[in-house]
Amino acid sequence: MIEDKRWKGVYSFDDSPYLMEILTELRDKETDSITFRKGLVKLGRFMGYEIIKTMETEKVKVETPLEETEGIIVKDRRNVVIVTVLRAAVPLMEGLVKVFEHARIGIVSAARGKAPKFEIEMNYIKIPHITPEDTVIIADPMIATGSTLLRVIEEVKKYGTPKRIIVLGVLAAPEGISRIKEKFPEVEIFVTKIDRELNDKGYILPGLGDAGDRAFGAPIKAFDPASGASNRVAKI
Ligand code: URA
Repeated sequence: MIEDKRWKGVYSFDDSPYLMEILTELRDKETDSITFRKGLVKLGRFMGYEIIKTMETEKVKVETPLEETEGIIVKDRRNVVIVTVLRAAVPLMEGLVKVFEHARIGIVSAARGKAPKFEIEMNYIKIPHITPEDTVIIADPMIATGSTLLRVIEEVKKYGTPKRIIVLGVLAAPEGISRIKEKFPEVEIFVTKIDRELNDKGYILPGLGDAGDRAFGAPIKAFDPASGASNRVAKI
């Protein structure tokens, strides 16, 4: 885990050959959905382990069948709220709950609204109560412009004041990180890798494409039969 010199509290995993290998597989355009989803699950799990290294521990005594010895518990691991941003974060969450098995889960949707404002609309928001002991982990694989996360963080703060807010992603563009850190300097960001830049369509470069489509397939829009159209489908 390396703290990026450009910001405080922003970490990537360029120093982990295993995570870099998983990322390479995710970037590969030939990687199928099954392998892609499995890769996201693995990243959620292993970045979860890394987050645990930053949590406070407490010394405890433990009785083995032979004698008493010292052990530890990671207290904060028991006070985690995972907020999953639909849809690509679902496999990341699956990985995270393997290491944060006590976690309470929030699920939110966030989509860019219509022109000219392009405001982020959150039509589905289910977030549990957040206490001062909690670490909130917001899972969103792609931190591109940062607009979605700015809106999600704003929303999360309405449910309580946690000990820490962590954004967990796979790839981030520097532009998105800067926007989040400007508005919420206290928010920590853990990403597998920080990529070069955004293109004019808001995709991260070199990136991995549309994470939701690659994990779940590209959505299609059904024509409305009431309007007389057949049951043909069109790509959105
Ligand atoms: N969302 C994605 O899925 N991919 C990007 O490159 C940017 C945003």
